[in-house]
Amino acid sequence: MQKDDPQNAPETKSAGETSEAPRPSPVRPVRLHAGSKFRFDCHRGVPCFNACCKNIDITLLPYDIARLKRRAGMTSARWVGAYTVPYAMDAHDLPGLKLATKPGTAECVFLTEDGCGVYDDRPSACRYYALGAMGVRRTASAEVEDMYFVVKEPHCKGHDEPRTTTVAQYRKEQGLEQYDRMNREWRDIILKKRSGGPGVGRPSARSLQLFDMCSYDLDNFRDFIASDGFNEVFDLGADERAALAEDEDKLLLFACKFLKEVLFGEMRIPRKAGAREKRMARRVKSPTGAPDTSDTR
Ligand code: SF4
Ligand code: SF4
Repeated sequence: MQKDDPQNAPETKSAGETSEAPRPSPVRPVRLHAGSKFRFDCHRGVPCFNACCKNIDITLLPYDIARLKRRAGMTSARWVGAYTVPYAMDAHDLPGLKLATKPGTAECVFLTEDGCGVYDDRPSACRYYALGAMGVRRTASAEVEDMYFVVKEPHCKGHDEPRTTTVAQYRKEQGLEQYDRMNREWRDIILKKRSGGPGVGRPSARSLQLFDMCSYDLDNFRDFIASDGFNEVFDLGADERAALAEDEDKLLLFACKFLKEVLFGEMRIPRKAGAREKRMARRVKSPTGAPDTSDTR
């Protein structure tokens, strides 16, 4: 299974290439909508059970990481260090993460003889397969449209099973409504970054650091928004701060809001009066001091 670039197809997976010869795309170029029917089933009785997890290329999305690191009882940073491989998502080196494989193989690090070892918290890619999903932003439109398609690979015998289902039903039984709800804002940020035109240029090194933290390191982001530097600038009420400290799902959605400030300069979080002036005054006093954690750009 292969997870494609999240800008294009955040929830697809297909077998990795095994030869240099061109081969037909596993993606059936038929656009599906929520009510569309397709034939597919996957269960322990299929002859290819686990085959798709033995040759993976899975891009992880922020909610995948939040779920998996919670399951493991690890901090985000430790989990990411243990189970992911970094890669650049675009020519600006926007950081992305792939799920790690067992040493010397293309087999998922979580695959066991009994199947997926993290099944209840498996990534979005694994839930979608053998459907692919992508968000499409049409030119001059702010709306992102969800599109689906079937990924049909030779090793996957689930397509021979007799069950027919709809996209909506499949998404529901795979728990994807929650995954999509949590990852949608982030996906839209990636799409906007890619299709935003010249107004959305190369992020600064600081912006890339913040992108990495907001996307993949919620524990660090929680500390960041509790810092004096952040609270000197941004005006979060006591209730909101408490909710963000306690609820990691809310924290992830807030991290995406903050990312829109970082990457696109959208002023979505209320500012404290005079914050900018105070920050500028501090910079003038101590031009070579420690980095200002409230500086988002
Ligand atoms: S996380 Fe689970 S379902 Fe996904 S590739 Fe690994 S073993 Fe397979
Ligand atoms: S039917 Fe497809 S998705 Fe299910 S185990 Fe086989 S290869 Fe994997």
